[in-house]
Amino acid sequence: MIDRKILHVDLDAFFASVEQLDNPSFKGKPIIVGGSSKRGVVATCSYEARKFGVHSAMSGFMAKKLCPNGIFLKPRMDRYAQISKEVFRILYEVTDHIERISVDEAYLDVTDSDRSPYKIASWIKTTVKNRIGITISVGISYNKFLAKLASDWNKPDGIFEIRPSDVPNILKPLSIIKVHGLGKKTADRLNSIGIFTVSDLLQCDRKTLSYFLGELRSNEIYNRIRGIDNRSLKIKTTRKSYGRETTFEEDIRSKPVIKEVLLQYLFELAFKLVKTNKSAKTVTIKIKFEDFSQITRSHSLLAYTNNLQTFEEAMVLLVDNLIIDKKIRLVGISLSNIV
Ligand SMILES: [Mg+2]
Repeated sequence: MIDRKILHVDLDAFFASVEQLDNPSFKGKPIIVGGSSKRGVVATCSYEARKFGVHSAMSGFMAKKLCPNGIFLKPRMDRYAQISKEVFRILYEVTDHIERISVDEAYLDVTDSDRSPYKIASWIKTTVKNRIGITISVGISYNKFLAKLASDWNKPDGIFEIRPSDVPNILKPLSIIKVHGLGKKTADRLNSIGIFTVSDLLQCDRKTLSYFLGELRSNEIYNRIRGIDNRSLKIKTTRKSYGRETTFEEDIRSKPVIKEVLLQYLFELAFKLVKTNKSAKTVTIKIKFEDFSQITRSHSLLAYTNNLQTFEEAMVLLVDNLIIDKKIRLVGISLSNIV
């Protein structure tokens, strides 16, 4: 599993960043979202507030004491959800292999992409910055644990890759609390017997670990600190369409060739539907010409289906009705209206 390409993306001080985005006079100031009511806790605070020692989950009372000039704001969850949606829309342009952790955090599996994960990570950062105006940190590695560690490496606005050859040296100096799955309580107990860093932990045999962590979790942690983490992404399919497209290296105009390519994609897409027990109702083809003009044509079926032949008939009909008077550089097909 060492050849997977996993990204962990994490928006920086998300709620506070949105407040600074919407109200430019908040830029560069200590913004504390949540904790304004008497018993409230801090949800997120800007990096300017973190300098005073404020952090999330801290009581508002404490935050006010540490940062009396902080700007305390009530959370605007609707607005954050809206921005989060825009960010995820960008992520889905990369892949649909996405595990959503929260409004501001996700894993992406980009193993199948022919672009390098670093290039993809840079694209995500630039695109989120340009289209939305906030920053995101991206960690790159070959499993979830290391990718998450990497996204935290030079936050905010960070990008960092942990390669197989970096392990275990990069992990050794880390405090054990950084190891995913090791809670504060367990860390305290391990500290009490002189285990503070991953390096210390690496010297523990399985027996000792199992004494402190229990059989099941000790195996997991034993592997994890050695850079092994085979957890796969938990992907919830909430996509509204399945699609594939391709750019031709040589220009084509031939309808039979287009049909052949699209049929191959349909086969994959229909298989995906069957596998996930879903059906679709709309078939859409997309054609981009040499001059970059683009057309889409859709056909809605009479009923929801995942039958390949039904999709094929619709696709053939759509292609037959096309007027092709220019060279084609891209064709694509998608199935939408999915239930
Ligand atoms: Mg975050």
